[in-house]
Amino acid sequence: MRKTAALLEKRQISSEELVKQYLTRIEEADPQINAFITCSGEEALAQARDADRRRARGEALSPWDGIPIAVKDNISTMGLRTTCASKFLAEYVPVFDAAVVENVRKAGLPILGKTNLDEFAMGSSSEYSAFGVTKNPHDLERVAGGSSGGSAAAVAAGEAPWALGTDTGGSIRQPAAFCGVVGLKPTYGRVSRYGVVALAPSLDQVGPLATCVEDAAILFSLLAGPDRRDAISSQSRPFSLPEWDLDSVRGLRVGVPKEFFGSGLNPEVEQAVNACLGELERLGAQLQSISLYTNEYAIETYLTIVTAEASSCLARFDGVRYGRRVEAADSNTMFAKSRAAGFGPEVKRRIMLGTYVLSAKQYKLFYEQAQRVRALIQQDVAQALKQVDLIVTPTTPNTAFKIGEKRNPLEMYLSDLYTALANLSGIPALSLPCGRDSRGLPIGIQFMGRHFEEELLFQAAYAVEQTQRRGEDA
Ligand code: GLN
Repeated sequence: MRKTAALLEKRQISSEELVKQYLTRIEEADPQINAFITCSGEEALAQARDADRRRARGEALSPWDGIPIAVKDNISTMGLRTTCASKFLAEYVPVFDAAVVENVRKAGLPILGKTNLDEFAMGSSSEYSAFGVTKNPHDLERVAGGSSGGSAAAVAAGEAPWALGTDTGGSIRQPAAFCGVVGLKPTYGRVSRYGVVALAPSLDQVGPLATCVEDAAILFSLLAGPDRRDAISSQSRPFSLPEWDLDSVRGLRVGVPKEFFGSGLNPEVEQAVNACLGELERLGAQLQSISLYTNEYAIETYLTIVTAEASSCLARFDGVRYGRRVEAADSNTMFAKSRAAGFGPEVKRRIMLGTYVLSAKQYKLFYEQAQRVRALIQQDVAQALKQVDLIVTPTTPNTAFKIGEKRNPLEMYLSDLYTALANLSGIPALSLPCGRDSRGLPIGIQFMGRHFEEELLFQAAYAVEQTQRRGEDA
């Protein structure tokens, strides 16, 4: 993004031209890819012209003023419909901006549109969208991942230079891995969720997707910071961009958890991740085999908590205040009919599961037990991060699967095998592209670190990225 910023600064390109280029690309590519639910081209052009005028007066809001962005469609945008990829909210137009949207607007970023996702961010393939599946730009027969599939595909296809996503169990990192882009799930509490439609508030985070590590860090620097409107927002120190120096990984202790390299891991993914680990070692990092034994329980724990919280958060969609109403003689029938018509099958499944695990008879057995296991997971992760500075794993066990391939919901849930741990423990986690499989599909490597140590993730990922680029140039 620095190059684009320099061109804008020197007036070699205007923001209007830049936005037009992306809109043309969206027109060309999106009929196939379907990364966008709503394209807000006119508004983006008006915002771009404002940015150009500010620059002409020497009043740019930031170095990135005039560089456009795409926003996942579960993040509220004032005056621009926010559907959560649900029929329920197909005509819902928020009257306020989410905190992250305020932040990108404050930096002058025009909004190109709203990107596709699994309905209410429940899923791993964007197939559960009421607006059609997003296709993987690397292979149109395959999924882009999910739930931030639209954001990842838009960036990978050059329809947007960067994008916002949300991640509750892997929804930024998994599509980033499938589409070959960089994605970060920040530390829990570091980015405000005000105005983001909640899936599971004890896990949700908003984060950046971009084509390279530096851009992801730049976008993250615009997002991070305290906000009184999000109850769990942390008063942490602000994030400033790190030094981009390959030497920063020298002496770093990198933990490689054996549980993430067991059966179920595609050998091509394993090989690519091992090659990247080799690069880290050559750059002076000390690799250490570690154990994260609780990862075995991560999926079950995650699913219990995510469905419980989702069933309670989604109670607000009843046809009264938000969304489409199906009229009926009495209010209970109206609620039931509106919900039956508005929600898709996966959302209904999760509401039912969540209601079950919270029910008086089952609560102790499921929800309370999941909270206990979650505490163990948090201890396990904390213990590991005392021994090492970073944990490196594959982002996903496999590369992008075929559209329609995973019919059984359980199979779909297993997509989060390597990503849910970071949400359950609140630590930051970044996915970096690391090579391709024999079909040419991107592979992702995941970096996890201590709370509020995003800087270290960026530095290590940057170092690996640079060695990969050198390899490609040679
Ligand atoms: N795949 C996960 C799920 O289906 C992740 C969702 C998310 O992170 N929003 O719940």
